[in-house]
Amino acid sequence: MPILVMKFGGTSVATLDRIKRAAKRVGREVANGYDVIVIVSAMSGETNKLVGYVGETSPMYDAREYDAVVSSGENVTAGLMALTLQEMDIPARSWQGWQVPLKTNSAHGAARIEEIPTDNIVAKFDEGMKVAVVAGFQGISPEGRITTLGRGGSDTTAVAFAAAFDAERCDIYTDVDGVYTTDPRIESKARKMEKIAFEEMLELASLGAKVLQTRSVELAMRFGVRLRVLSSFEEYDPNAGTLICAEEDIVENKPVSGVAASREEAKMTLVSVADRPGIAAAIFGPLAESGINVDMIIQNISEDGRTDMTFSCPTDQVERARSALDGAKERGEINFAELLSDTEVAKISLVGIGMRSQSGVAAKMFKVLSDEGINIKVIATSEIKISVLVDRKYTELAVQSLHDAFELEKA
Ligand code: ADP
Ligand code: ASP
Ligand code: MG
Repeated sequence: MPILVMKFGGTSVATLDRIKRAAKRVGREVANGYDVIVIVSAMSGETNKLVGYVGETSPMYDAREYDAVVSSGENVTAGLMALTLQEMDIPARSWQGWQVPLKTNSAHGAARIEEIPTDNIVAKFDEGMKVAVVAGFQGISPEGRITTLGRGGSDTTAVAFAAAFDAERCDIYTDVDGVYTTDPRIESKARKMEKIAFEEMLELASLGAKVLQTRSVELAMRFGVRLRVLSSFEEYDPNAGTLICAEEDIVENKPVSGVAASREEAKMTLVSVADRPGIAAAIFGPLAESGINVDMIIQNISEDGRTDMTFSCPTDQVERARSALDGAKERGEINFAELLSDTEVAKISLVGIGMRSQSGVAAKMFKVLSDEGINIKVIATSEIKISVLVDRKYTELAVQSLHDAFELEKA
């Protein structure tokens, strides 16, 4: 039997009624002749609640216990989905990550999948089971502890299963009917795309479009998984949604395909560091060791042998970054007059493979933002993206004016 992977996000399993609705879709694919692997998220809001419990109980928590707690939301929905399917006379059972076992490394809270043995589930399919319901987001470390894959990680569970089982397709069911030119919650004129290239989706995801976890797109690209994003609320349509596919399959030739916004950004500046060979290594080495995800970096011109170094990182890593840099200062590895942090910034990015061959995109972006009176704090570019940091209060205005200026509402 061909295998299909269907993943249902938090809003798609938020109530017993919605689980029923999702189960009906699964039933339809079983009737279409598939053996189905269903990956479920926790009911919407559940993971946030669990994360909150952990933080309240222990601010400097043990990451292994964090994972033990926050992974539990998915166990509930996996069991409920299996029960719902059984009520529909569809042979199904649930699997927690460790039962598969979905093997990960030991990076608790952001673990990477290492292996998914298929024999357990295949044996059940051979016995006549039609649906394997797997709890997303969780795995087991070499030490035998429960791990989680980072927020939004059920997407990655789904793609990894699709790759391991050589599934015909991986369908990601969510609360929007596909991937849009920008977050439809920010810009009502956002347009749904029929197709988007892996590279573009990868950039959009890593720059803040949370519709897919970045790692899931990476895996799909690497293993050639046919990945589709679609709504669990709309009527059944075999051609619905957005297909994430190879660049060759895209006909559009616009310079910009989408706008992404990330509000969880912070800007940190080391004021007056010595401008000498090795200074960047001395600053960013300790940050890397502390697991800080440094993104944009700028170094100012130097005066009297001293310069300012600015970088961006996620807001929730500011305190860790500060203690890493203070530590390096105490050890005499670096010297700075002050360490400033601005946690009220957002990163706005334009993404498009068309940028490779068309110039002037950056200039136009800067003009649009300046016409709106939005000051740019940091700029970073790569082959297919341009990102700027701006004051967070301008997030909506920046996204909407760029979406307009680049005429993204038009196909
Ligand atoms: P799920 O719980 O199903 O995993 P998420 O909340 O993680 O759903 O992701 C879906 C959300 O992603 C949408 O509700 C939407 O607000 C947001 N989003 C951000 N950027 C985009 C985009 N470019 N296209 C579609 N959705 C986007
Ligand atoms: N429940 C987890 C989260 O909210 C994983 C997921 O939904 O993908 O991050
Ligand atoms: Mg998600």
